[in-house]
Amino acid sequence: SSAMPPPLDPEQLVALDRAHVWHPYAPMPGRTDPVVVESASGVRLRLARPAEGADELIDGMSSWWAAVHGYGHPVLDEAVRDQLGRMSHVMFGGITHEPAVRLAAKLVEITPDPLRHVFLSDSGSVSVEVAVKMCLQYWRSLGRPAKRRLLTWRGGYHGDTFQTMAVCDPDGGMHSAWAGLLPDQVFADRPPAGFDAGVDQEYAAHLADLLERHAHELAAVIVEPVVQGTGGMRFHSPGYLRLLRELADAHDVLLIFDEVATGFGRTGALFAADHAGVTPDVMCLGKSLTGGYLSMAATLCTPRIADGISRGELPVLAHGPTFMGNPLAAAVANASIELLIRGDWRTQVKRIEAELRTNLEPARALPGVVDVRVLGAIGVVQLDHDVDVAAASRAAMRAGVWLRPYRDMVYSMPPFITGDEDLARIAGGVLAAVEAG
Ligand code: PLP
Repeated sequence: SSAMPPPLDPEQLVALDRAHVWHPYAPMPGRTDPVVVESASGVRLRLARPAEGADELIDGMSSWWAAVHGYGHPVLDEAVRDQLGRMSHVMFGGITHEPAVRLAAKLVEITPDPLRHVFLSDSGSVSVEVAVKMCLQYWRSLGRPAKRRLLTWRGGYHGDTFQTMAVCDPDGGMHSAWAGLLPDQVFADRPPAGFDAGVDQEYAAHLADLLERHAHELAAVIVEPVVQGTGGMRFHSPGYLRLLRELADAHDVLLIFDEVATGFGRTGALFAADHAGVTPDVMCLGKSLTGGYLSMAATLCTPRIADGISRGELPVLAHGPTFMGNPLAAAVANASIELLIRGDWRTQVKRIEAELRTNLEPARALPGVVDVRVLGAIGVVQLDHDVDVAAASRAAMRAGVWLRPYRDMVYSMPPFITGDEDLARIAGGVLAAVEAG
C-alpha cells in the first residue's frame, strides 16, 4: 500500500543500523556488521545478503531459547491472525479477555500444584521483578519487613533490570560493572555440576548454614532450576531443588524458581521443577511461553502468597504494565502450549538429546575443550579459554548454522522441530566454531 516505504537495500540498512540502533551488550555506534535476516521459516533464517557465503542459516539458538516451534509455524501464525481480527491490545486494568483467561488457567493446569495465581507481564526480567515484589510484599504484609534480602547461587542470571541484576553472578558476570549500586544479596556457592551427580553433603551443609544464618533477613531464595543458563550453561542435580525446598520451609523463607529459560520442555521435563517433584512458592516463565512469537512472561504464585499480600496494609500487588496480558501474545501462547502438549514435546526433546550427544561427542577430541554436556535440547561445549565470538560465529555460518557463542562456551538449544539432518549440521557448526574460536 502507499503507506509502505520501499525496502532498504541491505548495505543501507546495515549503515543505518550501525549508526542508530543499539544491540544487546553492544557499543554505540556499532563496530561490527550484524547479520540481516529478511524472513524466517521452519528452523531457517533467510538472509538479506549472504553471510560467509550462506543465504540462509539453521537457527541453533531458538532465538535465545524461545522459538521452540521454529518460525512461521502455520498454527501459530493463524492464532495471531485470528486474534488480530478481534483486537491486538486492550488495557488490563478492570478489563479481561478470553486469551488471557485461557492462558492463566492453562498455566495453572500444567505447572506444579499449588501454583494457582498468574501475573502476566511482558518480559522475563519483569517476571522476576514481579516475583521478588510478591515475596517482599508478602513479608511486609505479615509485619516482617526485615525479611527483604534474597539468597541466590553464584553463576546465576535472571535478567537485566536492577533487581534482577542484583541476583546475577556477582563475580565477573554480565552485571559486575554495577557492583555497589545494587541491593546487597546473599550469595551461595554454585551447586556442584552434573545433572546425575546427586547431592554433595558438604555443599548441602553450606546451603543449610547460609539459610540458617540469614533466615531472619531473607524474603526468598531465587534460583534457575537444573540449568544455570546465561551465567555458565551448567547443569546440576534436581536434588538441590528438593534440598532448597526443605531448607526454605524449615527457615520460613520463600522459594522462587526462575524457569524463564528452562520452562516448556527444554530440559526434558515440562518444567525443570518437575525433575525434582518440587513446587516453588513463585515461578517465572517467559521466552518460549509464546513459542518465541511475541513478548510475554508470567509469574505464578501459590494461594499462600496471594492471601498474605491481601492481608496487608496495601492489599494489592503494586504492579501493572501497560501491555499486561496482551491478547495477541496470550493467543499465540495458548496455541504454542497446545502444540507442545498435543505434539509430544517429550519425544522431540529426547530425540534431540540423543542426536546432540552423538554428534557433539567428537568435540571432546578438539584442542582446548574441557567439557561436552547435553541435557534435553541443550548442547554445550566448554573450552579452557574465552571464545573469539566473531571468529567462532563466522565459522558456524560457513557451516550454514547460526550460533552465538558466549564466554568460554559454544552451545546450541535448537527448536524442537529441528530434523535429524539439521541437528547434525548444527553439531557441525558447533565443532567448526570450537575449532575457530
Ligand atoms: N531469567 C532467565 C533464567 C533468563 O535466561 C533470562 C534471559 O535470558 C531472563 C530471566 C530475562 O528474560 P528477558 O530477557 O526476557 O528479560
